[in-house]
Amino acid sequence: MAGIGTEENPLRVAIIGSGPAGFYTVSNFMKQKDLVVRMDMYDRLPTPFGLVRAGVAPDHQKDKSVTRAYDKSAQTPGFRFFGNIEYGKHISLEDLQQYYHQVIFTTGAQVDRNLDIPGEDLAGSHSATEFVAWYNGHPDFADLEFDLSVDSVAIVGMGNVAMDVARILSKTPEELADTDIADYALEALRHSKVRNIYLLGRRGPAQAAFTPPEIKEMGELADCDVCVLPDEAKLDAVSLADMEANPDKNVEKNVGYITEYAARPRSNKKKLLTVRFLVSPTELVGADGRVKAIRLVKNEPYLDDRGTVRPRATDVTEELPVGIVFRSVGYRGVALPGIPFHESWGTIENDRGRVQSSDGEQVTGLYTAGWIKRGPTGVIGTNKTCAQETVQCMVEDAAQGKLWSPGSDDIESLLRKRQPDLISYADWQEIDRVEVTKGEAEGRPRVKFTRVKDMLAVLSR
Ligand code: NAP
Repeated sequence: MAGIGTEENPLRVAIIGSGPAGFYTVSNFMKQKDLVVRMDMYDRLPTPFGLVRAGVAPDHQKDKSVTRAYDKSAQTPGFRFFGNIEYGKHISLEDLQQYYHQVIFTTGAQVDRNLDIPGEDLAGSHSATEFVAWYNGHPDFADLEFDLSVDSVAIVGMGNVAMDVARILSKTPEELADTDIADYALEALRHSKVRNIYLLGRRGPAQAAFTPPEIKEMGELADCDVCVLPDEAKLDAVSLADMEANPDKNVEKNVGYITEYAARPRSNKKKLLTVRFLVSPTELVGADGRVKAIRLVKNEPYLDDRGTVRPRATDVTEELPVGIVFRSVGYRGVALPGIPFHESWGTIENDRGRVQSSDGEQVTGLYTAGWIKRGPTGVIGTNKTCAQETVQCMVEDAAQGKLWSPGSDDIESLLRKRQPDLISYADWQEIDRVEVTKGEAEGRPRVKFTRVKDMLAVLSR
């Protein structure tokens, strides 16, 4: 390994982004025998953990317990956290080249995909990512406002993000009060007048992207009934043939819950969640610049030449009166300065995590893992194998000397000059302790700071 990766000359790696893919990069490097690695993890926020903190729903605390393993990784000798440092603002690719042998980008997928239909820009039309980041207290989204004085809301898309948004809108304030939802969001939801929530899927029950625990939970809400139109719950011939040809336990379970909900009578619960299938939005209809309805076209399923069940528009249309529309049709990565980017996929150009130029050549020193590498799919744990694949490539390349040749290893001085409010892992732990202590007093996992200035204010340094 050309003398690199030893106590005297450790392999120096910068990890940009402190979500699951970033932390699984650390744990995968920790498993490498006979390789001494110094890892610096960067995040533009003072807080680590990416979507585990700002994406995973506040009422799904179990999913957040992975941070205990991340905390352990952060104790690895040679690991440093540089929070409140933004790549492209406080630090450039050229800077990183001076201090590291390799850089891995684990920045996730930060924005939503659009629907590209008329009316998408009306007031009341929002992306699910904005709403999710808002209720999770992400500082960049804390000032957003959602007009929850409307009676009806439509959520377009049928993945687990759509389910999270639907659940947060459907739950009572009491069901959310013992979570770490942002205080302002809980207060806004306390005054919510939303009674009808529509979840709109463009394909049928057998193609829904949500997972069984999520759809099961919808049938167990304290003050919200769930309803499916019997006609839409009935499986069409194309789906039945597909299910027989490609048996899948999750699909069977999903279909089971949907069938049960279609037969369930309405009780006297205050809210109603209506799960619709085989409908696509064609326009958001406005009045005085605000959404007042969503126009839908009924779809019919067909099998494409790759054997996938797809939706095809019919000439049957309808209009649902709604005051808010959330687009939840998948996330997209954001291009990073100086890094080759695949615009239509919203990912960094790469081969198994090795960054490539647009003509397919490997770019020395650059790597990627997580959603920005492979697109926004899979659960938190999927990033473990994703990071493992990239770390393997990084180790192989290091062994072959395919590395940058850094000079000084004192990047911290440079960072502190550019960002005096640099946050270390110890600083984050102090912020964490204050949040958790506040939470204990209220019977909640934590009370989140939603402003960077408030986070900085509690530090004793
Ligand atoms: P997703 O699972 O990919 O779902 C996207 C949904 O949008 C699908 O129902 C898709 O329908 C629909 N869609 C796409 N384009 C559309 C269009 N033009 N019109 C109408 N519908 C459209 O994405 P996600 O919900 O953003 O979730 C991202 C990842 O995070 C997923 O892997 C998810 O499982 C994971 N996640 C997991 C949890 C959890 O474990 N509890 C929570 C949140 C997120 P088609 O299927 O027809 O394309």
